[in-house]
Amino acid sequence: MTIKEYVSCRKQQLKDVVNTLTKVPQLIIINANEDPASKSYINGKLKDAALLNIDAKLIQLEPNVTQEQLIRLIEKYNDDSNCDGIIVQLPLPKHIDESIIKLTISKDKDVDGFHPLGTLNPCTPQGIINYLHHENITLEGKNALVIGRSNIVGKPMAKLLLNENCNVTICHSKTKFTDLKNYVENADIIVIAIGKNGFLDERFNYKSDAIIIDVGINRTLEGLKGDAKENLPVKLQTPVPGGVGLLTRLALYENLIKICLTKEKNNDGI
Ligand code: NAP
Repeated sequence: MTIKEYVSCRKQQLKDVVNTLTKVPQLIIINANEDPASKSYINGKLKDAALLNIDAKLIQLEPNVTQEQLIRLIEKYNDDSNCDGIIVQLPLPKHIDESIIKLTISKDKDVDGFHPLGTLNPCTPQGIINYLHHENITLEGKNALVIGRSNIVGKPMAKLLLNENCNVTICHSKTKFTDLKNYVENADIIVIAIGKNGFLDERFNYKSDAIIIDVGINRTLEGLKGDAKENLPVKLQTPVPGGVGLLTRLALYENLIKICLTKEKNNDGI
């Protein structure tokens, strides 16, 4: 099954779950930037919401909004019992401290899974794990290599793979190229998230049954490209576009629906 097919099938299942809920889930998306890439991500999220019968509202702010104003707005929705989830679209304008904003969103409404005290995981790594499970890929005891150590992808990805009992190695820009080649050669699963078009290429040797999960999104004159060159000699390689981006979008609504189900369960117990 391709990722597109998997995502569309899972969306149908999620829609069925949404239809069993006593209240229509509400997601608030706050955007304060004018970045065209963010606009297209938000449009994707709104499109998914409409398909899943989820009430998603976009609040578009001016880029000169102050940190205080943004915090007050988030707090308003933290206190609004009709609102189930809040997303603040990144990147934020430079004068706003992203780490403060991430902590302002209630951990119980943090659909992006960024709050350190929350129970949900960031959407990209969680979406990847969900997909690997769906494909019945055995993770236990496998050598997993994560290239990139960002807080939203690389680090949480490594943690989730470790939770799956993989032997996890993390590489980054300071890893020596000769070492990276050795890690790649021994890897069963490679997750690459560095933002470098076609970085994984024929300079490296791959296990023939390796799996490459390509998180990278690089805008080129030929369109969107991943961090891995296309058609590497491995068992499975996720495409860009039509790969991890779709899994991330899906995981966002998986997270929102988890929040709603937990709320309903807790209300039942009162
Ligand atoms: P980021 O915050 O820019 O971090 C990039 C990471 O790559 C850093 O840890 C950096 O190492 C490492 N790196 C850079 N050059 C390297 C090299 N030559 N060799 C090894 N490691 C290198 O990136 P991010 O936010 O994780 O995003 C990474 C890519 O994934 C971007 O293309 C982004 O657009 C894409 N992305 C896609 C999705 C999706 O849903 N598909 C979601 C999120 C991100 P240092 O730490 O040493 O600097």
